[in-house]
Amino acid sequence: MNIQHDITIALTKGRILKETLPLLSRVGIEPCEDLSVSRKLVVATTVPRLNLVILRGSDVPTYVQYGSADLGIAGKDVLLESGAAGIYEPLDLGIARCRLMTAGPQGTDSEVELKRRVRVATKFVNVARAHYAKKGLHADLIKLYGSMELAPLMGLADEIVDIVDTGKTLAENGMAPRELIADISSRLIVNKAAMRTRHASVRAIIDALKSAVTQQVAA
Ligand code: AMP
Repeated sequence: MNIQHDITIALTKGRILKETLPLLSRVGIEPCEDLSVSRKLVVATTVPRLNLVILRGSDVPTYVQYGSADLGIAGKDVLLESGAAGIYEPLDLGIARCRLMTAGPQGTDSEVELKRRVRVATKFVNVARAHYAKKGLHADLIKLYGSMELAPLMGLADEIVDIVDTGKTLAENGMAPRELIADISSRLIVNKAAMRTRHASVRAIIDALKSAVTQQVAA
């Protein structure tokens, strides 16, 4: 891969990173450090002039929006919540698939439908506000940063809006999924100015990832 500019890609740490690294490897981008042991946040790669930064998911759109990173890989859940201003989203990478859903205690779904106000605990307050507004329900939103499934058990909320993969976390806490808000996967995002000023390099990365994703789907 021929990169003519200094380019930084912001990656989401955790589960998404585990699925991102094999994808990057298939297009010839290998980190120069072992990310499972290194605590470095900025990491050079085997491609000259191409660096990676490893961030919390919700910070990835911010770094890309302000141009501190030229490209990024983030979950669609995070992009929906952030509003994703000032960035392009040219490619669905098809990794880290899951669903953004409402959920509540098993056997109590009809109770929520009867209420005019519903208390909802979530870290996705913007997505949740839009979802309940569309249903004509008034939602009192309670922002949480983790373990959302605890909120209904503790009487803090009627429902939660959270990521569901296998549904095991919900089931183990006496909860059931209710409505699908969005199917989620990780997306490649690009700073709008970088797309113009570093076009050849950014394009080379988008095209390489696009063909790797297409091959993966065909396989
Ligand atoms: P599960 O028990 O398989 O339904 O997994 C649900 C939990 O795993 C949720 O609380 C999420 O925080 C987390 N999770 C699962 N998949 C993803 C993903 N693709 N991106 C971010 N978090 C996820």
